[in-house]
Amino acid sequence: MAASVASQTFESIMKTVHHSLTQGTPGARLELVSLHFGMPGAGPKATLQAALHADEIPGLLVAHHLRGRLAALEAAGRITGEVVLVPVANPIGLGQRVLQAVEGRFELASGENFNRHYADLFDTVAAQVDGKLTFDAAHNVALIRDALRTGALALPERTTLESLRRTLLALSIDADIVLDLHCDSEAVLHLYTETSVWPQVEPLARLMGAEAVLLAEVSGDHPFDEACSTLWPRLAARFGPETPIPSACVAVTVELRGLTDVAHELAARDADALIDYLCWQGVIAGGPGELPAACCEATPLAGSIPVNAPHGGVVVYVREPGERVAAGDRVADLVEPMTGVVTPLSSPVDGLFYARESRRFLPAGATAFRIAGSAPLRQGNLLTQ
Ligand SMILES: [Zn+2]
Repeated sequence: MAASVASQTFESIMKTVHHSLTQGTPGARLELVSLHFGMPGAGPKATLQAALHADEIPGLLVAHHLRGRLAALEAAGRITGEVVLVPVANPIGLGQRVLQAVEGRFELASGENFNRHYADLFDTVAAQVDGKLTFDAAHNVALIRDALRTGALALPERTTLESLRRTLLALSIDADIVLDLHCDSEAVLHLYTETSVWPQVEPLARLMGAEAVLLAEVSGDHPFDEACSTLWPRLAARFGPETPIPSACVAVTVELRGLTDVAHELAARDADALIDYLCWQGVIAGGPGELPAACCEATPLAGSIPVNAPHGGVVVYVREPGERVAAGDRVADLVEPMTGVVTPLSSPVDGLFYARESRRFLPAGATAFRIAGSAPLRQGNLLTQ
């Protein structure tokens, strides 16, 4: 009882903003809620959002644990920058049901993946800052952030989905740190990020105990994290070294294990690690102490190799996520129950078996599992649909 009273007291300091989304049909009103801690402009800004793929529930529980911690930290005067927490990033997807199942990955009306097709503000921003950049990197960052804020707010919001994307982007586009909380089907904790910011993400990987980190300059189809982060190295390349532009947005997609890894103990540990990372980044006062040892090396996203079912069947795994495998190692059997044929599914490369499909019957062509290898063997669009 005492804890809940204390939590309510802390939460009275926190600012809650309700963002109305474009109403698609009369009577159907949706809103996005963002929780704001600290002071805008006082220091670095971090935005964290949960379950952009709405059926990826672990992030919702981590956000719940974060909210109490952030409220207490704000009450203690320890938030030196600004933290924005979006505890439910996708109210559209969370309400979509098909025959009792939540469809949280794709919008039913358009078929679009909720974590793709974010606006590319590169041309808009480049045109706006051209001729105004100087030798002063801090000036350039401020100028670009102004242009990004203006560009995000000018995006269309004709549909509820456009309105959701615009609102989410506007909350993150000027942040120093963007942490997008997702999960895989069944997996160990892993991260996706943009290559140039890896040195700044490495402490996060250590703190969270990430077992795989997948790096790409551009992975394709404009996922949310890359809409925030990749603009910076592209603008630096466009304008050249005379006008320095750092990679000023560290954006990470955090895959919080698998769909059913929803437990207070895990969420509390993850929330603690995220808070420690915000301390390391100077958003919250107080150091994280000595960083834990790294659990893994970063590998290229182009080296993450999917293994697909050659025919329909029951998939029976003989190895567990988190195990290292060698090329040729059998990871699963695919059992065709009508014919009795059993096809071994083997790892094509040396690497970490980090994720697998949770459903145990696969149609032909479906991805059964993925191995993070070190050689960049794939090209083109690097993300799963
Ligand atoms: Zn996801």
